[in-house]
Order: sequence, then C-alpha cells, then structure tokens
Amino acid sequence: MSTTLGIYIHIPFCKRKCPYCDFNSFALNPIPEKDYIRSIINELESVIKKEDSIHCKPPDTIDTIYIGGGTPSAISPKYIKEILDKLHKSFKLKSEAEITIEVNPAAVDKDKLKEYKNFGINRLSIGVQSFDNKVLKILGRIHNTEDAVKTYGDARNAGFENIGIDLMFGIPEQTLDMWLTAVEMAISIKPEHISIYGLTIEQDTEFYCMQKKGNLILPDEETYILMYESAIQRLKHAGYIHYEISNFSLPDYESKHNLRYWQGLDYIGIGAGAHSYISSETWGKRFWNEEDVFKYMDKIERHGNAASGMEILTKEKAIREFIFLGLRQVNGINAKRFCERFNLPLTDKYFEVIPDLKKNNLIEADGDIIRLTQRGLALSDAVFTEFFD
Ligand code: SF4
Repeated sequence: MSTTLGIYIHIPFCKRKCPYCDFNSFALNPIPEKDYIRSIINELESVIKKEDSIHCKPPDTIDTIYIGGGTPSAISPKYIKEILDKLHKSFKLKSEAEITIEVNPAAVDKDKLKEYKNFGINRLSIGVQSFDNKVLKILGRIHNTEDAVKTYGDARNAGFENIGIDLMFGIPEQTLDMWLTAVEMAISIKPEHISIYGLTIEQDTEFYCMQKKGNLILPDEETYILMYESAIQRLKHAGYIHYEISNFSLPDYESKHNLRYWQGLDYIGIGAGAHSYISSETWGKRFWNEEDVFKYMDKIERHGNAASGMEILTKEKAIREFIFLGLRQVNGINAKRFCERFNLPLTDKYFEVIPDLKKNNLIEADGDIIRLTQRGLALSDAVFTEFFD
C-alpha cells in the first residue's frame, strides 16, 4: 500500500489535433480555460474532503505532480498557478516532490517558462517528437525543429535542471538515418530524460483512415525494430540508463511520476478523462473520469465528481498488472515479491509460458529477477500476448 500519492492533472486542449493522436485532447477555439480550471479546483476540493465515495481516502502526502495533456502550455500560466496553489494549500507536499509540466514548443515562450519555474515546477517534458522538419510536417505538428531547440534553450535559461524530451520513430517516410540523426541531436543537447515512442496507428485517428485507404506507408517491421535497437545502443553509449521500454535517463533522473504507474503506487487523476489508481482496497481499484470536456465540467458542477467508470481489481487482474507493469521496467519483476504478494510461485502460475519465452530469447532469469531480453524489449507486445492469452 502506498504511503504517498501522485497527482495527475489533465489539460485536454490543443491548438490542433495531430493526425496520429488518440489522447483525450480537443482543438477547441476558444479554449474554455476559466470554466475548466474552476472544475479542476472543484474536483480537487472533493478529493481533499474525501466527500465522495469513489476517492476513498488516498494518502495525503504528495511526492509527484504531473500536469499533462493535451497541451498544458496552451492555457494561461495563471491557471497553472491556481492549481498548484490549491495543491500546496490542501496536501502535504514532500520537499523533494517532482513537479512536471508538459510543454509544446509551439505553445510556450520564455516568459511562460520563467513563470513555471517561479511556481515551483521543477521538471519539464517537451514534446519535441523529431528534429527533422519533414517528419514534423508528416506528423502534423505545429512546431518546427528551430522552435524545439529554442524552447529547450529557453528552459535552460529559465533555470530548469530536469528536462525530458519525447521522440518518435516508425513514421512514414522516416529512414533509419533520419531517425538516428534525431537521436544524436537529442543526445547532443543533453536533456536529463529521453523517451522514444514507436508510432502506432490507433483507431479513430486521421492516420488510421489514411492507412485504410492505402495512403500511409510505414517503415517495415525490420526497420522499425532496427530503429528501436539502434537508439537503445546510442543512448546507452551516451550515458543514458534504459529503465523502461520507452524511457531513458541520466542517473537519478528517472520520471518519478511515471515510475509510480509502473510500480503500482497510488495516483489520482484530475480532469476530463483522467484515470486514478488506489492500491488499498483488496487488489486495488481503478476509476476514471468522463472524457468529454463539457460533460466533465457539467458533472463536476452538479455532483463534485465526474467519475464515469470504476474497476475493483480481481486477483487475476492484479497478477496481470504486476507482470505487465513489471516487465515494462528494464529491471524486470522479482519472483519472490510476486510470491509474497499473491501467495503463488511465479513459475507455477506460468509454468509453460516462462520456459517457452526463455527458449525464444525473449525473457531471461537472473536469480529471482525475470526481465525482457534486448529482443524481448523490441517484441514486448508479443511477450505480453504470451502471458495473457
Ligand atoms: S499536441 Fe499532443 S495531445 Fe495534442 S493533438 Fe498533438 S499529440 Fe495529441
């Protein structure tokens, strides 16, 4: 059971919807920022008073806050301050708490960055995606390489000492050379954290329709795997620690907030479509909010919460989550901890799957630790299918 809490605040607004994006984000004009933030504050109030049944006494010491989206930097900084002030007033905040905001290079400037720093935000996540203007255009991003480099420089000048950037690979028309040039560019500016995500085509996106019509040609699987594996090599060689399938950091700069998700620690999500997890009841409980911005605001106004679903985990579901979240981390899962938690030896539960995956060089064992091999990391979806089918 967690003794601390992570808070996620969702700001679901973007200037334009990217054609590959299936996040809960909306290109509204004008952005109803004032009303939305009033709902965020009201939802926080409910959580703090624990007056609704769903939030069920989460721990009240916060050690991570993550303001994500959407594009949090698209709204006025005064609203970001309002949220942080509310959190400061209402919770015990650990002195070394990690406070992150996501920024889009096309929706931030040096003044906003300075304000964020003054508000006590100590970590930035910059949605760079690529350092190649052709690739950025294909992705439908509204920023270019120069904007991204400038945002990074402005962030350093504003005093940020913990900066993460996101990069994408497996994009139409992106060659291995183009990808590795972007990785080298990222390494050269030395952010503390680098995430690399392979493009996946999600239903209900513009890319999905284009692919169905044959208008979207992706790199083949071999190139996709080569892109992933070559990036791992380059990043490790440059001193980055590979700690999760898609995430790399300089020593001690892992994303503490995201580690909470992967380690099964408590977090509360506030805002439209935000998800929460509380570990205390039996095998844990997940709940999530109404996704539509206007329905979310309406529910908060009328009931103080905007929950649209809840799941009490069964033991079987909790086992799956333990495996899934554990194997995503490069350090793997501890079979002893699995046995203590579920009163069941891991090798008994998966007596056929584990030897098969080992034989195929997809997982490896080292004492009590079971982890993905290099090949397993690249083919993680196939590994999870073996565990859960
Ligand atoms: S900026 Fe991010 S959240 Fe917004 S549409 Fe693009 S990918 Fe989605």
